[in-house]
Amino acid sequence: RLYLDAISKRFAGTDAVRAVTLDIAHGEFLVLLGPSGCGKSTLLRLIAGLEEPTAGRILLDGNDISDEPPQRRDLAMVFQSYALYPHLTVEKNIGFPLRSRRQPRRQIADRVAEVATVLGLGELLDRRPAALSGGQRQRVALARAMVRDPGAFLMDEPLSNLDAKLRSATRAELIALHRRLGATFVYVTHDQVEAMTMATRIALLNGGRIEQVGTPEELYDRPRSTFVAGFLGSPP
Ligand code: ATP
Ligand code: MG
Repeated sequence: RLYLDAISKRFAGTDAVRAVTLDIAHGEFLVLLGPSGCGKSTLLRLIAGLEEPTAGRILLDGNDISDEPPQRRDLAMVFQSYALYPHLTVEKNIGFPLRSRRQPRRQIADRVAEVATVLGLGELLDRRPAALSGGQRQRVALARAMVRDPGAFLMDEPLSNLDAKLRSATRAELIALHRRLGATFVYVTHDQVEAMTMATRIALLNGGRIEQVGTPEELYDRPRSTFVAGFLGSPP
């Protein structure tokens, strides 16, 4: 499990994340929800190790990983802009995280094929990213995150570049993928519909603080503040 222990991040003049404490159980689909600028991306980047906390600690299965560099954490990050390597094929893009681990070629190819099949990319392995649709690129980015079999997936608005139809299809795919993998997903969005349909639990942020944490039903039916009610559109 992932435990955020009073984690804070202060940029020059801005408290982006203020003493956030959050216990994320293995296998959860936790959505970090909130308006623009509330600190969602910063919190995710702190978990990933891409930002250094000003205060607080991050524990993974009881071990303090606050000082571990990103590549040593057992986590995979999927960005909004998929950040694929344009000059590499889909196969090479997906297998990239394994190359630095001195795995035999054969083993890498098998693992890439396995992940590609799960995500319906089996026919596209020889293409380059420029020859893919937005949804296909998004799946390649996911496949690359999956290939190392990480303990947790961190995703920052991964669907925001997709049109409405593709977005709802990919949303359904992600829910199915989460069920199949049984892995922990920490998913950032400002879209309450996305949060309500995907999350097993929602942490609603406001001004760097957690306003409320709970299941989608709990937040909707029993909002703890007018901010929560307003954001989720609960009836008065
Ligand atoms: P959005 O939904 O617009 O992506 P967000 O919830 O992801 O917003 P963050 O990107 O985490 O918000 O930003 C939180 C606050 O921290 C904002 O006020 C932002 O301006 C500030 N901030 C983020 N990154 C930096 C930085 N590198 N330097 C200074 N301030 C920053
Ligand atoms: Mg953001």
